[in-house]
Amino acid sequence: MKKINNFINGQWQNPVSLSYLDKISPRTGQHLLQVADSNELDVIQAIGAGKKAFPEWSTTAPTKRSQYLRLIAQQIEKRRDEFAWAESQDTGKPLALAKTMDIPRSIHNLHFFAERILHKQELCTTMEDGSLNYVVREPLGVVGLITPWNLPLYLLTWKLAPALVTGNTVVCKPSELTPTTTHLLSEVCHEVGLPPGVVNIVHGRGATAGATLASHPGVSAISFTGGTETGEKIQALAGSTFKKVSLELGGKNAVILLKDAPLDKIIPEIIRSSFLNQGEICLCGSKILVQESIYQEFLKRFVEETQKIVVGDPMLDSTFMGALISQHHFEKVQKNIAQALKEGGTQLAGHEPLHLPEPIAQGYFLRPTVITDLSNCSPLHQTEIFGPVVTVNSFKYPHEAIKWANNSPYGLSASLWTQDISKAHKLARDLQVGTVWINCWLKRDLRVPFGGVKHSGVGREGGDYSLDFFTEPKTICIQL
Ligand code: NAD
Repeated sequence: MKKINNFINGQWQNPVSLSYLDKISPRTGQHLLQVADSNELDVIQAIGAGKKAFPEWSTTAPTKRSQYLRLIAQQIEKRRDEFAWAESQDTGKPLALAKTMDIPRSIHNLHFFAERILHKQELCTTMEDGSLNYVVREPLGVVGLITPWNLPLYLLTWKLAPALVTGNTVVCKPSELTPTTTHLLSEVCHEVGLPPGVVNIVHGRGATAGATLASHPGVSAISFTGGTETGEKIQALAGSTFKKVSLELGGKNAVILLKDAPLDKIIPEIIRSSFLNQGEICLCGSKILVQESIYQEFLKRFVEETQKIVVGDPMLDSTFMGALISQHHFEKVQKNIAQALKEGGTQLAGHEPLHLPEPIAQGYFLRPTVITDLSNCSPLHQTEIFGPVVTVNSFKYPHEAIKWANNSPYGLSASLWTQDISKAHKLARDLQVGTVWINCWLKRDLRVPFGGVKHSGVGREGGDYSLDFFTEPKTICIQL
């Protein structure tokens, strides 16, 4: 069986303990590969390699670092089918989605920051007596990048590109459930001749490898994307070393439809925002709130469209929803649905059994699920399910929808659907979230800040926000 090893100082090596974790295919429920179960010693070696490479990499011209990013992007582009296939195998997502979303966006992340760094400007001020202040931004050192399983390469490159181009060296800790595209990335770094130690990859569990990275004094910053509970642990682990921490965490995103929303146009969009990537995107809208006068009509048409969704083999072009990531997650989502029904919810879609052929009969497939009649105070409206499950409720006045949307520990995003842009603008200001989409969803301009409020995160990434996170400003004042 294929074994995935760590990549440290430009070389692939066994974990020190020689222990491996079994990775199960979400598509078949069978063993897929083994991945290094790294411990503290592996992480310390990787940090050491990053430290050794830092003096030279941090003083390499930004244009040269930018060129390396472009070369990595071009090499991924050449191998894009292989990357897409690996991403689909590891996650269970449709191959077509990996080809059209995950891998192109990963390539774009690298090109975007390769370009962005070349236009970065800094502040320079002159005081009344003529003294000059100017600001230089310096890389931090070795930084840790800890990433989840839902968009593995997409989210890793979103951190890796700005970290490298600003002169840091990195230790990546991808999710133990999706190691393959990060491994392919290590091959690409090798192929383009990236100096050893600039990118190091340590595979394994969060509680061991991830926790060592977060707590180690030799790591200057952690950029983390993952669950809120893990974010809390990472913040505590990182606290005593005063390292910089960026946390991109979970969400429970409201989708608000006002009575003038054009249903013909928007129902396909609401289907996407509910069930794309099996609903396993932190930004998926899972709490749909519809104004009273269009509620029945919306519900009828939305349920009809949901029932038409093709769930099945991720390898087929006709599939819209593939498998959930793991048995554990599959059971967790099912438990949440059962809980909703126990609390008086009505299931309008998702209960029909799925009969899938071999070899996918044992995979973790679930139908898209729609639940109504859950009361406002149901704990499920406060819980991130992170699967293909949405609730639908009605409201009378827009301010009620805002109250309901804000009644959540999370604050990642929301979407608003209406033709009244002035009203939408006002409501957007009232929503306690990091991003509001009006008449669209998942549109991302990489220049704008991205992140959450409340339990959805700390800090912002994106464009100059990322370049600023991975550097420290230094002010130099000259008496002329
Ligand atoms: P997770 O928190 O379980 O794991 C994320 C990463 O953290 C993995 O690499 C894991 O090994 C590591 N980890 C786990 N415990 C750790 C510890 N104690 N110390 C250090 N590292 C540790 O999340 P997941 O299940 O992989 O991903 C799903 C979650 O990610 C959802 O909550 C989703 O909303 C969130 N997410 C957020 C965003 C965003 O941009 N806000 C994007 C994608 C996913």
